[in-house]
Amino acid sequence: MRSSILLLPGDGIGPEVVAAAASILRAVASRFGHQFDLPEAAIGGAALRRGLPPLPDEALAAARESSAILLGAVGDPAFDKGDSSRRPETALLAVRRELQLYANFRPARVWPGLEDSGPLKQSVVAGTDMLVLRELTGGLYYGEPRGIAADGASAHNTMRYSRHEIERIARRGFEAARTRRKHVMSVDKANVLETSRLWRQVVTNLAAEYPDVTVDHMYVDSCAMKIALAPASFDVILTENLFGDILSDEAGAIVGSLGLLPSASLGDGPGLFEPVHGSAPDIAGRNIANPIGAIGSVAMLLRHALALETEARAVEDAIGSVLRRGVRTADLVDRSEQRVGTREMAAEIEAALLAPAAAPRA
Ligand code: NAD
Repeated sequence: MRSSILLLPGDGIGPEVVAAAASILRAVASRFGHQFDLPEAAIGGAALRRGLPPLPDEALAAARESSAILLGAVGDPAFDKGDSSRRPETALLAVRRELQLYANFRPARVWPGLEDSGPLKQSVVAGTDMLVLRELTGGLYYGEPRGIAADGASAHNTMRYSRHEIERIARRGFEAARTRRKHVMSVDKANVLETSRLWRQVVTNLAAEYPDVTVDHMYVDSCAMKIALAPASFDVILTENLFGDILSDEAGAIVGSLGLLPSASLGDGPGLFEPVHGSAPDIAGRNIANPIGAIGSVAMLLRHALALETEARAVEDAIGSVLRRGVRTADLVDRSEQRVGTREMAAEIEAALLAPAAAPRA
């Protein structure tokens, strides 16, 4: 297969983790006989430093033409005091809006060997492997009318969902469940909110088209509690924008370091794949950032943008085998383990990917 994958390294540790992720894409191409073109464009602070806007037209045009986009992170303290149109972070919001990326996938899994790196007891967290699927372009964050009253005494937002918006994200949830353990937990607040009642109705109707997938419904407050009490009981959590924002952070927090978490944002055109973390200016340029969130995002890119499931699993297997051997970046290290930098971790994962026999599946 020949594909063009646009790299947007961005700021801070972004270029370091994207370089690591690009080395894994090249290794996948070499092992499986693909050709990946990897053009690069500057966005965020990296664009501002060249006198360009946070999302230059050429970067957006290149994004539209690519098969998928791999982004590092944006955010640069040098621009924190500027007006909002000249802040690096506006690049990210603009690219999501321009590409209509309505489905946000945030997997949270506990890698074997890292069961004790999060805040929960090992016995509670072991076996956790869930996917939080969040609706990203509707609901309370975009609903109109919104505003603060002229006298400042009140404020309002609008939560609105159409059947179309619910159905297209629910379809993504059912399709994703089919590739996993075939269970969807649809999360809402149908005891209180009309939008949630419509959500539940649409998801229930759609379930008839996916008889191989089991669907349950849960209120968001119960779900938040159950993620902390029995995280391993979830497969796909399907939910709207605000609930997904909160639940995906909770799910991410229980599996350990922020540096481990990948994500994908999908629409009907090219998808955007990025680690969950930000530009981490406090550790930038020191070869200590964990590249696994970015490399996990490569696995998601292979799976969701290019339909290369075998290749995606090979990348995940390589990450798992390296972690099982006790190789750790600084954010994960404990005394008995081998501590490596960003480039060395990427090289270990690349070696495991190219010599899979030595790296049995997690
Ligand atoms: P952050 O995610 O950059 O960092 C939070 C903490 O986690 C820091 O201590 C950092 O060193 C650590 N960390 C993050 N990624 C790591 C990794 N891969 N390996 C090891 N440690 C890691 O969040 P922040 O400090 O709140 O924000 C810094 C900048 O990033 C801000 O400008 C913010 O706006 C931006 N940001 C961007 C994105 C994005 O591009 N998607 C997301 C969040 C924040």
